[in-house]
Amino acid sequence: MNLKRFTVGMLETNGYVLYDEDTLKTCVIDPGDEGKTFIEYIEKNHLKLTAVILTHHHYDHIGAVSQLKKKYDVPVYIHKKDIIGLSDPTINYSASSSKEKISMQADKILSDGELINIGNTALEVVHTPGHTHGSICLKVKDENIIFTGDTIFNVDIGRMDLEDGSEKKMKNSIKNKVSKWSDDVIIYPGHGDCATMKSVREKNREFLYMLK
Ligand SMILES: [Zn+2]
Ligand SMILES: [Zn+2]
Repeated sequence: MNLKRFTVGMLETNGYVLYDEDTLKTCVIDPGDEGKTFIEYIEKNHLKLTAVILTHHHYDHIGAVSQLKKKYDVPVYIHKKDIIGLSDPTINYSASSSKEKISMQADKILSDGELINIGNTALEVVHTPGHTHGSICLKVKDENIIFTGDTIFNVDIGRMDLEDGSEKKMKNSIKNKVSKWSDDVIIYPGHGDCATMKSVREKNREFLYMLK
């Protein structure tokens, strides 16, 4: 599996391109608001985009989805609890924070534990509510790589004070899901640098606070 990160937009949101070297089948995780950047990379490497997967519904992660959909006619995946936010510019914050209001429909609805196949590789959906009700992390099958969206960052965790955030749910997600990941797992977050879980356990005070 091959992985490329792009950091895009005002909030420096990380979007990821993932592809299976054998089949060139590809997914984009959270394309931020710069479709062009992703399209150029896909074209240059002759990749076959088969899915756009969203870790949650916030505007800084979903801005370029319609551009990718228009060009490649690919399905958009999101957790069932974030479908409403995807179509509601108030809930996804594009109404208050973005140049354009963003409203779109999901094509595939995700649930905890589900597998999304990308060629010969797969991503497992880990439902981690707290930042939004439908926030997910995505674990690459047979590899120690997990995309964490805005659930957990290198030295911080996601905000819980937005429209549908919940400290109680975040605590539960961190305690029962994130803290079970082994030290050699590398997290690829929605903002900032990646980190090993070993480093998270040593340096991420917000993560540690949630375990109390
Ligand atoms: Zn967010
Ligand atoms: Zn974000």
